[in-house]
Amino acid sequence: MRPIRCIPICLILSIAFLPAQSNGQIKSPEAYFGHVMGADQRLIDWKQIVEYFQYLDQGSERVLVEELGQTTMGKPFLMVTITAAEDMPRLERFKEIQRLIGRAEALEPGEAAALIKEGKTVVLLTLNIHATEIAASQESVELAWELATRTDQRVRDILDNVILLMVPSVNPDGQQMVTDYYNETKGTESEGASFPGLYHYYAGHDNNRDWFFFNLAESRLTAKVLYHDWYPEIVYDQHQMGSNGARFFVPPYQDPINPNVHPRITAAVNMLGNYVLSGLTDQGFTGIVTGTRFNAYYEGTMSKTPLWHNRLGILSEAASVRIASPTYHPKTSLQSMSQALSEHQAQTNFPHPWSGGWWRLRDIIEYEKAATYAILDLAVTYKTRYKTTFYELNREAIEKGRTEPPYAWVLPPDLPGDHTGQHDPNAAVELLRRLRYSNVKVYRAKEPVNTGAGTVPAGSFVIPLSQANRPYIKDLMERQHYPDMRLYPGGPPMPPYDLTTWSLPLMMGVKALPVNIPLTTALEEVDDPAWDLPPVSANAKAYLIGRRWLGSYRLVNALLKAGQKVHSLTEPLQVGDETFPAGSFVIPAGKKSLNLLRKAHTTYEVRLTPMSSAPESTPLKAARIAIYGPWLPSSDEGWTRYVFDNFGFDYSLLRNKDFASLGNLKRYDVIIMPSMGTSQIVDGRRGRNQEERIGDPPLPEKYRGGIGKEGVKNLKRYLLDGGTVLFFGRSGDFAIDELGVPARNVLKDVKNEDFFAPGTIFQVALDSASPLARGMPATTPIFFIRDPVYTLMAGLQPHRETAVYGPTNALLSGWVLGEKRLHNKVALAEMTTGKGRAVLYGFRVQNRAQTWGTFKMLFNALYIED
Ligand SMILES: [Zn+2]
Repeated sequence: MRPIRCIPICLILSIAFLPAQSNGQIKSPEAYFGHVMGADQRLIDWKQIVEYFQYLDQGSERVLVEELGQTTMGKPFLMVTITAAEDMPRLERFKEIQRLIGRAEALEPGEAAALIKEGKTVVLLTLNIHATEIAASQESVELAWELATRTDQRVRDILDNVILLMVPSVNPDGQQMVTDYYNETKGTESEGASFPGLYHYYAGHDNNRDWFFFNLAESRLTAKVLYHDWYPEIVYDQHQMGSNGARFFVPPYQDPINPNVHPRITAAVNMLGNYVLSGLTDQGFTGIVTGTRFNAYYEGTMSKTPLWHNRLGILSEAASVRIASPTYHPKTSLQSMSQALSEHQAQTNFPHPWSGGWWRLRDIIEYEKAATYAILDLAVTYKTRYKTTFYELNREAIEKGRTEPPYAWVLPPDLPGDHTGQHDPNAAVELLRRLRYSNVKVYRAKEPVNTGAGTVPAGSFVIPLSQANRPYIKDLMERQHYPDMRLYPGGPPMPPYDLTTWSLPLMMGVKALPVNIPLTTALEEVDDPAWDLPPVSANAKAYLIGRRWLGSYRLVNALLKAGQKVHSLTEPLQVGDETFPAGSFVIPAGKKSLNLLRKAHTTYEVRLTPMSSAPESTPLKAARIAIYGPWLPSSDEGWTRYVFDNFGFDYSLLRNKDFASLGNLKRYDVIIMPSMGTSQIVDGRRGRNQEERIGDPPLPEKYRGGIGKEGVKNLKRYLLDGGTVLFFGRSGDFAIDELGVPARNVLKDVKNEDFFAPGTIFQVALDSASPLARGMPATTPIFFIRDPVYTLMAGLQPHRETAVYGPTNALLSGWVLGEKRLHNKVALAEMTTGKGRAVLYGFRVQNRAQTWGTFKMLFNALYIED
């Protein structure tokens, strides 16, 4: 049956937006590709998008297309700059203006006013970060073409007052994957089925949780635009959500608000979102909602992180279709969206519900494009206001940093024999480097620093808070106190939008002290923070490195791959001022290893202690590692690969079919089960007994199912016969329920109102006798997201309670309800399973490749001592 044609506003808009005939020489995307963008079942892929932008760059004086760098998988990452042709030669001057206003410290109000007048509003529009939310990538070419060719007053005003920076896809690799997949399945029973696996090579959907940590190539390229080159005042990031609620979400965001975001930013974002709602409602768009589901407490998403930099960060979420296939929505299928829209009916934040019917890719493009124009209109009207607000808030932040504690954070160095310094010097400089991606200024103290509570030595790193991005620094360095939000008074907790904490020092195991008296120390600014390390002595029989240096694992992996020997120290050893615990790495000296070790300063950044004779030690070898990669996407799997690639661990990926053979599993010493539910592992489904509904496209055959009963049986045999399996987070339930690992999850079936920790940092004590705890301090923060909490069962074999919650005060940062359920329970267990071993990580040991403080508890499981 022919679907009913789309809502009439499409027609009105396309007539009104026809470009002047005089510019007819630039072909529209429709003319260029032979179909309208967003036509049913038609997608242009990344290659075509790049090709069209090159064509537009050639043909239009208003458009500049730049390749900012390469994506994770080597594709061109584009940014398209659009403004008036006569301003194109002056882009460097506009950048300079943005830099001066954005840094603000050297700019007095009088000069600022002149620059604000001379400058333009800079708007960054980021599209398609979530690759299956494909409409925005299709919109990009059409929007750019319109701005390149239209001659009406509205566009004239935009070009004259605004510089639009458009990233057509923040995930070009995924854009290509999704279009390829859609085209392969088009016309089959699987047309429009969900995308199997991760649509970002490492992160999948989590590529939008990376915006303060910058693990990914795409985040780093965009951060350069945001925080180093262009300082846009407005950032607009377009997404798609589920398809059964409102048609379109714009701010205001839902509560809670973050205490570090300036009230003027929150108020301006509210005004901007409501302007979009009002403007689109005037044009006949329906089904627009505000103030529900999406909050702005959490740092880490593309649209929100700019809020802590005094910018306006706007998110929109359009209802999805099945990639490019239209969907039909009976009126009674339309649903609520959290408690701020508890019924799908008209209310203040949802003035004009959509009446149901067909919903198409083209509709999404119309909403997204109209919202973009509305935001650009405001950028024109309120140019002076937005730029002035940005400048004033930057000045205010600098002033507050000078007059209010904390005045700075200071990271003391590691000094041999000094146990008050940095436990892991590598993690500490890494924290500073992550801050540098967003252009936080970092300094080195030339003399001792008085923190108000004591003195730290010269050579410490200092992060002063008298910087324009003070709210950002403060939010990342301090602990979070997430408010106790309930669905109704006395009711269950309201789930946060993602996590409730992201405190960098806690996540990374870094010692960072607040400075609570005004900073008077002589400082030197550093661009790329690094510690000073002594040169490698050539006259040694062996070298020692404590595992507390995370960089030591990189070095050890490089040595092992080069065929060099590495050992593990058998007994603790005192060398000069420093004590080396058992398990410290011992590297026998040799010509080849010396060359590698000399590179150690620059590449691995570790301190090597020379030994005149080799201490007693055991040889190490790299375990053969495999990671389970389900087709139902697991970002935890992808991040595990990211961490391994980053630290030089080799691994294989196990797919469902690989579990069908025990021999296959036995090719590996260690198998990793990333955090996921039992039904995802066994059946390839989110929940048990979830039958596919008629009309829901099934996944193509090769992606269906999980490891199955046979896989479960083989994995159990593998454990009994001597294999090691690491169960991350929620996969511990699978270990207990399906494999019979003798432990209990005390939180199983506990209701949210009785225990809730949806992204929280706790403290645990470690058993220092466990090899897994090598290089770790006696207590450590761990990252917990709805994970199991264990008690172990008695039997004929010994088990180790490697990390245990204390009897009180487990919470370090974020939100927890019912903390007492954790007390004295186990967070990390090493279970003997016949001849093998099951390791239950009741926390996220490598969460999003951000928790550097606990990586060692994973890495230590990846070597074999002969
Ligand atoms: Zn999204």
